[in-house]
Amino acid sequence: MSSLYETRLFINNEFVDAKSGEFLTVYNPHTDELVSDKIHAAGEADVDAAVSAAQKAFKKWGQSDPSERAALMLKFAALMREHAAEIAKLETTTMGSAIGTQTMGYNVGADLFTYYAGMADKIHGETSYPSSAGKYKITQREPIGVCSGIGAWNVSAVLFAWKAAPALATGNTFIYKPSEKAPLGSLALAKLVQQVFPPGVINIINGAGKTGQLLASHMQIRQIAFTGSTATGRKIQEHAAKSNLKRVSLELGGKSPSLIFDDANIEVAVAKSMEGILANTGQICAMASRVFVQESIADKFIDTLKSAFEGASSSGIIGDPMNESTQIGPLADKTQFKRVMEYIEGGKKDGQLVTGGVRKGEKGLFVEPTIFRNTPSTARIVQEEVFGPVVTVQTFKTEEEAIEMANDTIFGLSACVYTNNIARALRVTRQIEAGTIAVNDWYFPGVDTPFGGVKQSGYGREGGLEGLNDYLQTKTIQIK
Ligand code: NAD
Repeated sequence: MSSLYETRLFINNEFVDAKSGEFLTVYNPHTDELVSDKIHAAGEADVDAAVSAAQKAFKKWGQSDPSERAALMLKFAALMREHAAEIAKLETTTMGSAIGTQTMGYNVGADLFTYYAGMADKIHGETSYPSSAGKYKITQREPIGVCSGIGAWNVSAVLFAWKAAPALATGNTFIYKPSEKAPLGSLALAKLVQQVFPPGVINIINGAGKTGQLLASHMQIRQIAFTGSTATGRKIQEHAAKSNLKRVSLELGGKSPSLIFDDANIEVAVAKSMEGILANTGQICAMASRVFVQESIADKFIDTLKSAFEGASSSGIIGDPMNESTQIGPLADKTQFKRVMEYIEGGKKDGQLVTGGVRKGEKGLFVEPTIFRNTPSTARIVQEEVFGPVVTVQTFKTEEEAIEMANDTIFGLSACVYTNNIARALRVTRQIEAGTIAVNDWYFPGVDTPFGGVKQSGYGREGGLEGLNDYLQTKTIQIK
């Protein structure tokens, strides 16, 4: 067992038993073995203790020199990189994604801490030219206080670092609740936090939705950054509204379109679509799960994608997630597996199954990569987020029709456009309703660019310079 294995709550730089007396249980989705039924789940008194620790720590951390904060963040980033593969194993044990994908996630997390460490001493206010009335005006950008984050389970390290790194760089203190499906990776990170940061600066507590609600409703927490489903995002907003009107940022679900025009390079469109549908077993918010292909190239595109999916299935890249050569692991747990299979059964009634559509093997929660065609735009499989290795392919005749179909959903997280015509690329990207768009590529967020959605995919941006905004408040000072 890794020395970073831990199941208790991390509050004020100590690992403590939950006062709630409640525990979470997690199973390995590949082997179905029990991982632990003793993962401490925070109740009200535990959340209060984390908030008190963060409030106390804020008094010093909020006043600390930015270069001191940056130095500690860089030290933490180095530790995260050093232990990325070890922590990834703990994470994979609970939620099944391929070890390579999870290791990359922890390295991206370290990159985010490095990036925001560099920002800590570059946060400035403004000075206006003194007016004729002799008023001197300045603005300063200040930390908010105790901030918090709640995450989904698919790429925990990135979801944690997207929130914790800008929060710390700007002088806030932080409480994080990972998903109940992936509790161990974040606790392993807590062991690294303990080696670097002063007590109370980062607190990590596990728990299910009930614990999340306690954070979102807490009167002393000033801000909450949430990543998860649109349904839960709506609840977070309600909890915030009914408590202290804390600031909320929401990174929610998606049903991202890929628009493939007849002047595109089909090989590129197929390769990138495959990555955009199967990466992390389809459990990424920015999955390109609705493909729209121009009629004249539709058969060729679908045939090539079908061969690519079937090739992936027989090539051995789907399998034991602990194996370095595996690219696609099982789905995260039985609930997720059941949900994906239900959508697939619905898809079989509403459209035409091209390939896949069944469980893969007997052991582990694997699903064959699945393609549907001829599904109407109103079908659930076209409108709702599946969060699995499933894609629908629809055809279009004109650019206008493609844009209309792409925008016909409640979501607006990301999109892909495949064309070799730059004028078309610019025209289409301008009209697509999405927070991020990739041209001739599938979009995977980097550290230096903002990521986030429009419409019911949420609001607020994580990553890049904009990622600092949710953790700063502006004060104007006028001197006569
Ligand atoms: P989920 O909404 O079920 O849970 C997310 C988190 O919210 C968990 O930690 C859960 O414990 C907590 N939670 C549940 N009920 C709560 C409540 N009432 N109050 C407060 N917290 C509560 O989502 P999930 O199944 O864990 O994750 C999958 C979803 O996450 C997908 O919709 C996916 O698109 C989305 N996601 C979005 C992004 C993004 O950046 N936009 C990234 C990753 C995942």
